[in-house]
Amino acid sequence: MKTIQDVNLQGKKVLVRVDFNVPFDKQGNISDDTRIQEALPTINKLIKDGASVILMAHLGRPKKGGFEPEFTLKPVAEYLSKLINQEVVFTQSLLGEEVSNLCKNLKAGQVMLLENIRFYKEETKGDVEFAKQLAALGDAYVNDAFGAAHREHASTATIAQFFPQDKYFGLLMAREVENLNKLMNNHEKPFTAVIGGSKISSKIGILESLLNIVDNLVIGGGMRYTFYKALGHSIGDSLCEDDKIDVAKSLMQKAKEQGVKLYLPEDSIIADDFSENANIKYVDTMDIPEKWQGMDIGEKSVKTYCDVVLSSKTILWNGPMGVFEMKKFAAGTNAIAKAVAEATDKGAFSAIGGGDSVDAIKGSGYSDRVSYISTGGGAMLEFLEGKVLPGIKAIE
Ligand code: AMP
Repeated sequence: MKTIQDVNLQGKKVLVRVDFNVPFDKQGNISDDTRIQEALPTINKLIKDGASVILMAHLGRPKKGGFEPEFTLKPVAEYLSKLINQEVVFTQSLLGEEVSNLCKNLKAGQVMLLENIRFYKEETKGDVEFAKQLAALGDAYVNDAFGAAHREHASTATIAQFFPQDKYFGLLMAREVENLNKLMNNHEKPFTAVIGGSKISSKIGILESLLNIVDNLVIGGGMRYTFYKALGHSIGDSLCEDDKIDVAKSLMQKAKEQGVKLYLPEDSIIADDFSENANIKYVDTMDIPEKWQGMDIGEKSVKTYCDVVLSSKTILWNGPMGVFEMKKFAAGTNAIAKAVAEATDKGAFSAIGGGDSVDAIKGSGYSDRVSYISTGGGAMLEFLEGKVLPGIKAIE
């Protein structure tokens, strides 16, 4: 793996694709700066080397083609300026004479951020001509946007072909790939995957792939009710994907064949409405009464799941155990966060990925007690499914 750690790019204009796709609160302030913070090691290394840094990033999903004020990266440029204690030159366009001149005149150690790259429709199409024009702005290319590595876009993949010698992984990207490789190919056993979240449909690939490598597959979240239904239980108004019942059956069959222990919650916290104000009840069964819906795993399942996690040497966690955004239904998710932290204290390697599980581990205060938190939800899932990510392939 060719990373910027192994080179000194002094005097070069370095185009760096970063993941600055950060959330904003209602007042327009950045509400979680993790992605910006995670890009700092790469940016600071290049500044220290004496390179000029030209950052490319996207924000949200602009649709129109052209400038849309709600998706501008200007606040990110201002925020980054404060973090690195120097002005970040911001350009309102990506191409054209003005931008080329600004790039040419950048001095060693200066940083520039180009406006949201998705204002150009060519970006998501992976357009070669567009990538070529971007490439002309720099002498070297660095990809540090793991969160966008599963996209074959102009700035994440296509552009790399114009730097046959001078293309590198950024430090964040390198760390992600190293940790995920460790998880897939070089892990200690027992290996437990805890998979939750709302839908089985978005996790089929990873569930199938994990059955080839894990010892324990622990299921939580709304997706468990599709499994319950597949087993013939009544599930009331709980979330269910009827068209995925056969998938649930085949996953359970595959687990049996592979000798993987598949855990489904044996009890639930249920509610008579999908709301914080709903009436709630505990049921010590997999059958959910009519007009009630499952919202969290129950205390017995919490105990079983935590015991499994605590006896594991490798842990992957993706997806909450319940509707953790509502306090009443967050206990299962918080208990898993605590168990993952405690297992890590005892020497396990733990990896957490996916927006909701990352929010949960941060919210519960255990984020500095896990081995590794991935910055890429979709990218991490695709990597673990065994897919080749275009953003990684382009550099390798
Ligand atoms: P995902 O994006 O598929 O990982 O799903 C995350 C979402 O699953 C979160 O917003 C949770 O609120 C939701 N979720 C977890 N458990 C349940 C449940 N029992 N019923 C409905 N939604 C759930």
